[in-house]
Amino acid sequence: MYGSRHYIGGAFVASPSARSGAVFNPSTGAELYHAAYADRATVDEAVAVARKAGREWANASQARRLAVIFRMRELLIRDTDKLAAICGLENGKTISDAKGEIGRALEAVEFATNAPQVTKGEYSRNVGGGIDTFSLRMPVGVVACIAPFNFPVMVPLMMASMAIATGNAVIVKPSERVPGASAMLSDLWAEAGLPAGVWNVVNGDAEAVDAILEHPGIPAVSFVGSTRIGEYIYQKGCRHNKRVAAYTGGKNHMVVMPDADLEAAAAAFVSAGYGSASQRCMAVSLLVCVGEQTAERLLALVKTKIGTLKVGPYDDATADFGPVVTKAARDAVENAIQRSIEEGGELVIDGRGLTVGGHENGYFTGPSLVDRVTRNMQLWREEIFGPVRGVMRVASLQEAIEVVNAHEYGNGAVIFTRSGGAAHDFCEEVEAGMLGVNVPVPVPVGHHNFGGLRRSKFGDAHMFGPDAARFYTKMKTVSQRWPAPEMAGAVPGKMSLD
Ligand code: NAD
Repeated sequence: MYGSRHYIGGAFVASPSARSGAVFNPSTGAELYHAAYADRATVDEAVAVARKAGREWANASQARRLAVIFRMRELLIRDTDKLAAICGLENGKTISDAKGEIGRALEAVEFATNAPQVTKGEYSRNVGGGIDTFSLRMPVGVVACIAPFNFPVMVPLMMASMAIATGNAVIVKPSERVPGASAMLSDLWAEAGLPAGVWNVVNGDAEAVDAILEHPGIPAVSFVGSTRIGEYIYQKGCRHNKRVAAYTGGKNHMVVMPDADLEAAAAAFVSAGYGSASQRCMAVSLLVCVGEQTAERLLALVKTKIGTLKVGPYDDATADFGPVVTKAARDAVENAIQRSIEEGGELVIDGRGLTVGGHENGYFTGPSLVDRVTRNMQLWREEIFGPVRGVMRVASLQEAIEVVNAHEYGNGAVIFTRSGGAAHDFCEEVEAGMLGVNVPVPVPVGHHNFGGLRRSKFGDAHMFGPDAARFYTKMKTVSQRWPAPEMAGAVPGKMSLD
């Protein structure tokens, strides 16, 4: 089964470690296979292979490197259906959602073809005494990419495509819940012509991650996942003198002003709130209504739209979203709903206890909505990674901004309004890394930088965009002076010999 073995040096390899973990189909609850978990020896082997291959890849011409990236893009398009199927099988997201994810992954791959442009150095002529100074951006060497379960294709490619295009070798550590997609990508990179050892995959859990963080042969670590683990990885990686970029949890607010197009706002909230069973770092978690009238009118529209959502297995083409990733995740969502009631919330839509015919053991929970959420409730404070969303009521834009800024996370935030002034103040004052005005999910396109603020990101790099290329390269600055030409008759300072 794809995903059961590591991929090192251009081949799928069995693990010498005795440890492994089961991979499940969240739509049925059935165990699919066991994936080998890497221990320190496996990580050591992957690093040794990657360092060797990386040295040669770093010296490959830009044209050669880009040819592989262009070819990979074509293969991703060719195999979208297969990738989407494995993504849905192991993650639970619907096939159409998985195809959307692959579309975003393609953006990252496409942007990686700009690597020569975004890593061009600088040159200053005659900074003094005939000295010229220039800078070079060199690959860092081996990059570790530690990925979450919720984007099995997009996140590894968001990290690895630019790392590879800038001349590095990568070791991907996919989420142990969804190793299949990274394994499938291994075959595609090989078919695209990437030399063996430049892309490697080690499966596993904390043991593999700790071996990566402590390994002196890995100078850079990209991480996407929860804030608790991301902070640990950032701090530990930095203690081991690595550069670390960790993109972490979110709790994204959608502020709706009284002058907004409420129909559009309601549609945006439902799609951005519940899509992918709300298992997106950029999902809208909270609807912040400015004014009681706005709240009442919006809630009526939202309830109607939620009523039309269909929950089903990943391969049901008519389903709006699928199950959550594990049974424990479903229990956490349903417990959070219960707690929100105990803390004073008003449960206006209850999706708990949903069963889907023919899939009684799948990890389904229906869409739930809690009104009158306040800042002292768990439902506001914590990222709940599943389809329960909250409604808050505030009296003014200023109060809405205070609510958004009081949160520990600052991944994304959006406002719906017809007022340019309100949108301006929102964008100026809200402390979130990705902002939207009248759009549901403000994930930037691939040539802009992606990343949150506050505890939604650790480190000052960004994914996507030119910052990604900077993260995967180190700068050297050269100051050089050349003696005058020695050949007879040459005039110092004059380059032509006529
Ligand atoms: P997670 O933190 O549980 O796991 C992420 C990775 O860390 C996995 O590869 C996992 O194996 C590893 N890991 C887990 N526990 C570990 C430990 N104790 N020590 C070392 N490594 C460990 O996250 P998840 O549940 O897979 O993904 C969901 C989270 O990711 C959410 O919080 C979501 O907001 C976040 N996310 C953030 C972004 C972003 O760009 N900011 C994007 C996608 C997902």
